[in-house]
Amino acid sequence: MESLLGIEEARALVLERVQPLGAESVRLSAAAGRVLARAVAAPVDLPPFDSSAMDGFALRAADTPGRLAVVAQSAAGRPAATGVGAGEAAPISTGAVVPGGADAVIPVEQTKSDGGAVVVEAVAKGDNIRPRGGDIRAGDVVAEAGTRLSSWLIGALAAVGLAEIECARRPRVALLATGTELRRPGEPLGPGEIYEANSVLLGAQLGEAGAEVEGLDQVADDEEATRIALERGLDLDVLVTSGGVSVGPHDLVRRALAELGVEEVFWRVAVRPGKPVVFGVRGRTLVFGLPGNPVSSLVGFELFVRPALLALQGDPDPGPGWLPGRPGAPVRRNRERDQLVRARRRVEDDAVVLDPVAGDESHMIARAARADALVLVARGGGELPAGSPVGYLTR
Ligand code: AMP
Ligand code: MG
Repeated sequence: MESLLGIEEARALVLERVQPLGAESVRLSAAAGRVLARAVAAPVDLPPFDSSAMDGFALRAADTPGRLAVVAQSAAGRPAATGVGAGEAAPISTGAVVPGGADAVIPVEQTKSDGGAVVVEAVAKGDNIRPRGGDIRAGDVVAEAGTRLSSWLIGALAAVGLAEIECARRPRVALLATGTELRRPGEPLGPGEIYEANSVLLGAQLGEAGAEVEGLDQVADDEEATRIALERGLDLDVLVTSGGVSVGPHDLVRRALAELGVEEVFWRVAVRPGKPVVFGVRGRTLVFGLPGNPVSSLVGFELFVRPALLALQGDPDPGPGWLPGRPGAPVRRNRERDQLVRARRRVEDDAVVLDPVAGDESHMIARAARADALVLVARGGGELPAGSPVGYLTR
């Protein structure tokens, strides 16, 4: 029986070869999904001043309850010129500067106007005031290096006044689909042809992982054409190919890569689908040869390519990020290979239950697309019982 590399060993071999990319300045509005190259500290206190949490009156808590003289108002962006003295109340709007002398804000609902005065209920010192620096103080870290920028985090960086941040450069990726039988979507199919799905599929996955597809090519199973197309891709940070890595006479990718000086780090992993995956390096370029069946390609991407892309961008925890769940039905194990079983997630009694979808063959992309989880079923004999703890990935 052949002894193949396990998923985890293969992943480690990939990550060992990753040399993080340099940094560049990125406008915040274009930074979603990018990875911070350096820790970011807040340049200002947030809020930058003591501000009102309510529409109401700024006053001295010691004067309440009572009837207070109304003085100059403080509106958002228009601070009052004067402070609040004893026995006085300044109308104030949410987000406005709390005038000097005031130590509380009373919401307008707890007041009654009475000519030039206002009758207020009791409030305590500090009520309805958002203290300066209460969210974050100048100099404190908003986010650490290696953090992927979520929309929430981008909001925080904008709130502390940053227009640009240092992010890891996006990995530049060449994508090459191989196969004489492949037709571009949108064209009529000839005899024996199928639509080329992997470049679009992998292109979308690459985009999600922060990469920029700079070379996109499709090539027939012809040695010369394959070599020329591969050579172009080797100029970039990462070259991802699909198809042509099995043992058939038209599987030309490995040999062509070897001829181009790519060092093969591994070929074949004990995983189903996706066993014939190849990983190699030439200089700083990482090369992934994914098997052509679309589900094999997408699995190989999730297990090896996405972690490599995130690590290139300096993510200290590049995944795959396995989440805990339990299969909703028994799953037949594969004796030799760990399986990534396509499943649909649901929540039952606070736990994630993963129901395998019908049709687990690697060409069945339409079936796979009904799933939203890839469930890791470790190799072994017999069945994995329903309810066993497993890890899964989600799209
Ligand atoms: P290969 O890995 O080249 O042996 O291809 C395995 C299977 O995947 C074959 O049935 C191919 O026709 C199919 N295939 C290869 N590349 C693609 C692609 N880009 N899109 C859709 N199917 C593909
Ligand atoms: Mg092929």
